[in-house]
Amino acid sequence: MEVSRRIAEIRATLREGVKLVAVSKFHTVEALLEAYNAGQRIFGESRVPELAAKQSALPDDIEWHFIGPLQANKVKYIAPFISMIQSVDTLRLMSEIDRQAAKCGRKINVLIEVHIAEEESKHGFSTGECRKLFEEGAFKRFENIRICGLMGMATFTDNTAQIRREFAGLRDLFDEIRSMLAIDKNCFSELSMGMSDDYETAIEAGSTMVRLGTVIFGKR
Ligand SMILES: *Cc1c(COP(=O)(O)O)cnc(C)c1O
Repeated sequence: MEVSRRIAEIRATLREGVKLVAVSKFHTVEALLEAYNAGQRIFGESRVPELAAKQSALPDDIEWHFIGPLQANKVKYIAPFISMIQSVDTLRLMSEIDRQAAKCGRKINVLIEVHIAEEESKHGFSTGECRKLFEEGAFKRFENIRICGLMGMATFTDNTAQIRREFAGLRDLFDEIRSMLAIDKNCFSELSMGMSDDYETAIEAGSTMVRLGTVIFGKR
């Protein structure tokens, strides 16, 4: 009951048009089912074996999003069913997603992960690399992926001003890319930012998709 109550509470506060990804990593199939029964359909996972096990145990109308570091050699395990890979941080990974999508006869939705945090450890393209990626359009040869937008994680800090600045920077980059002539704005439309501790700030900054784990399922 706790999970469904939390989902209802969060939904009530989300601005219209902001999608909720329930980040279910490390939580049990039972907890996911409770969220599913509360109407939740988008789930985010960050490990391939865990995702594969849950996908086969849960209903088919779930949209699975991959949100963690992804090794190219693991793409094949999720390519048949994944709805969106949010953590694309190299051209090599993009190329492998393209190859595996073709094998499955699918087109896979991806987000480009951009490194906006101060911490060294976070993955992603730098702002400059990301801009260059879109200016040069090297990914255009990948016909089996659809680039739907950007994803980023702010620094883990209590400094709200800093978090706001980082999200605003990602929003500016998103707008800049959307304004490029070669970009299909209907397709490039998602800005995935905001986790349990900072999603309100992220929504104020223009997030279209929040990824929430702890506030839905409790501590991992
Ligand atoms: C784990 C994770 C989340 C969810 O984090 P919470 O703080 O539990 O909401 C969101 N995004 C990514 C990329 C994650 O790895």
